Amino acid sequence: MSLIIQGGRIIDPVNGRDREGDLLIEKGRIVKVGKTLSGDRRIDAKGLWVVPGLIDMHVHLREPGYEYKETIETGCRAAAAGGFTAVACMPNTNPVNDNGAVTDFILTRARSAAVSVHPVGAITRGSGGEGLAEIGEMAEAGVVALSDDGRPVRNGQLMRRGMEYAGTFGLPVISHAEDLDLCAGGVMHEGVVSTRLGLRGIPSVAEESMVERDILLAELTGAALHVAHVSARGTVMRIREAKARGLSVTAEVTPHHLTLSHEALLEYDTNLKVNPPLRTEEDRQALIAGLADGTIDAVASDHAPHNIAEKEVEFDQAAFGMVGLETSLPLLLQLVHEGRLTPVQLVERMSVAPARILRIKGGALSEGEAADVTLIDPDLSFTVDAARFYSRSFNTPFLGRELKGKAVYTLLRGKPVYRDPVMKDRK
Ligand SMILES: [Zn+2]
Repeated sequence: MSLIIQGGRIIDPVNGRDREGDLLIEKGRIVKVGKTLSGDRRIDAKGLWVVPGLIDMHVHLREPGYEYKETIETGCRAAAAGGFTAVACMPNTNPVNDNGAVTDFILTRARSAAVSVHPVGAITRGSGGEGLAEIGEMAEAGVVALSDDGRPVRNGQLMRRGMEYAGTFGLPVISHAEDLDLCAGGVMHEGVVSTRLGLRGIPSVAEESMVERDILLAELTGAALHVAHVSARGTVMRIREAKARGLSVTAEVTPHHLTLSHEALLEYDTNLKVNPPLRTEEDRQALIAGLADGTIDAVASDHAPHNIAEKEVEFDQAAFGMVGLETSLPLLLQLVHEGRLTPVQLVERMSVAPARILRIKGGALSEGEAADVTLIDPDLSFTVDAARFYSRSFNTPFLGRELKGKAVYTLLRGKPVYRDPVMKDRK
């Protein structure tokens, strides 16, 4: 049985394609990309974008240990609904993914999941910052990167050793850059809004100084450094300088840092409490500019599910983080509608770059490769609705928000893993 995706706008930067055409899929692989192809079954893609499956390189699937927030199964269903065909999951589970057995567990559970799962292993044991994790064991089991995400590696010497080990196994190191002493228990960006609300602030320098340290360590060790969730203008500047010096440094930004600033916190919504915090409008503009000019390589959701009890408390007490898998693409499409990002750039930042940084398959619609494909309706308006979420949690400030554009059909190895109801009307 062959399947043809017909008449869509094929956006495939790796193969230099951005034009209308057909995609022929057989036995889970892309066999041909061209015009007026025929197949046994067809999907009418007129007016839709046909792009390589999106890849979210920074999510928290919460399993093992926090299944009440999310599981590998529910997180992956949310990913598919968001247009993703692959995710990289951070190691801050319970137990922490710091050895081969936990990596094995995740990959075994992921076998029946809707999308591909790529585990990230911890740098230090239990992400506790004292002593390296079982890096060799995890590399063998299949981690794609190393990170203590959720917390920084405070000890510079340990970070240096981690980078050296990572290099031996060809793994990038993902830096959660945060100087905890400078953060000093802050709960939001340090600025005029934190002063007004009387909340403790986290200064931008807490991020920038740690990014600078890690850039210097990457230079020293030759490691591939990836900076997670960039939030500050100064960080964008430092990454731009590092790239200009020819260092192997990449970076990601979240959809919420691209679309919200600390002013939003005047509403006191604990769903806006994220780490790193939402910063100023000036920072936000710098992030968009950095994403457009390629200083920031990728968009990643930092999907961080929490249940209601962890969010419906005082701002100081609330957990950090918001879910993002099901709103990430729509939020980025708003930037496309505003003319800040081209469709090709969106595909590069949400599919091509994550595949390149993590050195995994995907990011292209090449003949012979697995048919991981996402169909996007850039103009379909919808309201973000918790009742329609596949994720087990719905801690997001975007509930009720009207957005334009979303994924309508997601295929993993040629099989549909998500189909929006609007696709029923297409024959
Ligand atoms: Zn982080």
